Amino acid sequence: MYVPQIPDILPYAVPFFFVTVILESLITRHERPKKYEIRDTAASITMGIGSLVSGILNKIFVVWLLFGAYENFRIFTIPFTWWAWVLILFADDICYYFLHRYGHEVRFLWASHIVHHSSQKYNLSTALRQTWTGNFFTIVFYLVLPFFGFHPLMILTQMSVSLIYQYWIHTETIYKLPVWFEAVMNTPSHHRVHHGSNPLYLDRNYAGIFIIWDRIFNTFQSELPSEKAVYGLTTNIKNYNPIYIAFHEWIALFKDVFTSKTSFLNRLKYLVKPPGWRHDGTGVTSEDMRKQWLESKRVKPLN
Ligand SMILES: [Zn+2]
Ligand SMILES: [Zn+2]
Repeated sequence: MYVPQIPDILPYAVPFFFVTVILESLITRHERPKKYEIRDTAASITMGIGSLVSGILNKIFVVWLLFGAYENFRIFTIPFTWWAWVLILFADDICYYFLHRYGHEVRFLWASHIVHHSSQKYNLSTALRQTWTGNFFTIVFYLVLPFFGFHPLMILTQMSVSLIYQYWIHTETIYKLPVWFEAVMNTPSHHRVHHGSNPLYLDRNYAGIFIIWDRIFNTFQSELPSEKAVYGLTTNIKNYNPIYIAFHEWIALFKDVFTSKTSFLNRLKYLVKPPGWRHDGTGVTSEDMRKQWLESKRVKPLN
């Protein structure tokens, strides 16, 4: 099979990221520090650079796994044709949806993904705030692709395309786009909801490129004018040290696993249960917060 030479496109996008972050910070300069704050942006950029470095280190492992699955287990052989690129656009995006969803619902995956949600700002630099540790788990969610016969190079290229697509949606400068676009594609409006810590917005809109997965799997929430997103975590870290941002949830998680006075099984549950879960029943998860909020909004019947 003919395999074209495709370089990794992500490094080519980096100068575009820097230029547009500077442009957006200038456009919104009258709203500082509400929209942009130097130490917040500096932390996000440092996280982005660290993530690129960890991604490069991790690449050997990823390429080895993808080729291993492709060469030993594939059931089809999908050539590099136009329809294959259309197929992988959707196939990769559904893998991303589940990776992202479990990244919120399983604590040891959240320990990595929390990084991306740790800023209380929402601007293009927030997109660069990426994990240093998650790259090692990500690939598991994509192994189904080489199994179906997508070539590893095609998969890696599409993963970079997806990451680049998700960059521009981290902005408040675009309100809503045409209805048809909002219906199908992930947009700044949909992703603002995803970064909101409001109970109504928690764990919604996991989409990468297409919002359709959230609509299909019942995790969609539109941005309401009456509910302005409050960005960040339900308990914010208020810390700009990149090392702390990268590892604070790992430390909290291991503390729960190793020091909780409970059974071995319960301690292990800290790894796989949703963030907020506690073995003694005192924990509050996103789902609990959402339910409590919806309950409080319910109009009481008059009697
Ligand atoms: Zn997320
Ligand atoms: Zn985001």
